[in-house]
Amino acid sequence: MPVTQAAREPRLGREDMRRRTIRKLNYAGRCWWCGAPASSAEHKYKKSDLVRDFGRGPYTGQSTLNWNDLTSGAQRPVQGPNSGRVKFGKSMCARCNNERSRPFDLAYAQFSDFIGANQPELLRRPIIALADVYGPEWPSRRDLLLRYYTKHVCCRLADEGFEVPADAIAFLNGGPPPTCMAFDFTVFGEWVVITEAMVERDGHFGFVGMSELWTSQSARTRVVEALEGSLFYRWLHFHWLYDPSLRGFEDPFASGTLAPAIKYAGSGPEEADQLGVVIRAFSELETETGCDADQITNDPALRARLEQLVLSRTGRGLPNP
Ligand SMILES: [Zn+2]
Repeated sequence: MPVTQAAREPRLGREDMRRRTIRKLNYAGRCWWCGAPASSAEHKYKKSDLVRDFGRGPYTGQSTLNWNDLTSGAQRPVQGPNSGRVKFGKSMCARCNNERSRPFDLAYAQFSDFIGANQPELLRRPIIALADVYGPEWPSRRDLLLRYYTKHVCCRLADEGFEVPADAIAFLNGGPPPTCMAFDFTVFGEWVVITEAMVERDGHFGFVGMSELWTSQSARTRVVEALEGSLFYRWLHFHWLYDPSLRGFEDPFASGTLAPAIKYAGSGPEEADQLGVVIRAFSELETETGCDADQITNDPALRARLEQLVLSRTGRGLPNP
């Protein structure tokens, strides 16, 4: 006898099945949270993070800021912290994006201010105790911080043309965390090294970014079964998964201490250290010769000198471009 969907999951009614499906939805100018006309665009990256790292703008002349599309390689200027490039499309009403979510925004701002103020220590030991960030109020602030990240995910889903799950909206309204989502944080080892080297060179270093949206689809039915994505602030990467078959919210702050795993895109810490040496060798040559990084790379004599500098410090040459 063929095994049918109903036979495998006899307890699921039609309503349950509907709730477990990720559906495409065009909100057509309506707020995904309350349904009022959507007149407001949420920042993809918190405005206070942009101001902390890049200033109040306009980002012109010496303080040009570029937006890089990692998929296409396209590069576009960002005019200031309110540029459309750093925001989602208009998918919320002003009341939801301002008043209703202000406590979430404030909890996040406090969290990222803490990262900004304690970066040197955090780069050595990336462990954040919420009591250090929020004091004795941390359990309630933790919930608000999770709602900030949930709101980000909801905006992303609406922006990509997917329905925001009812569980997530219930959480924003004060209910329990969405069981269909999992949140996780990692520290990218290469970015720790890049940040340290750039701070040493320029006194500061900023980076914000978002991954592309990853979609898991059933090979047979093409139904979207899970979506995931990442939001990067400097070296701290927030990763979210939305999968209706999950049976409980994964909370990275559950213990009150965020202790993200350190991951390397390359082969490991040794390769990351090599990257730091390369960045420092570049800045040394830039100071010495007045040439910028592109000129050094394109000039055979300067490139040979760069190679020599790196080799003398690590015993290894430049990594392949
Ligand atoms: Zn609204």
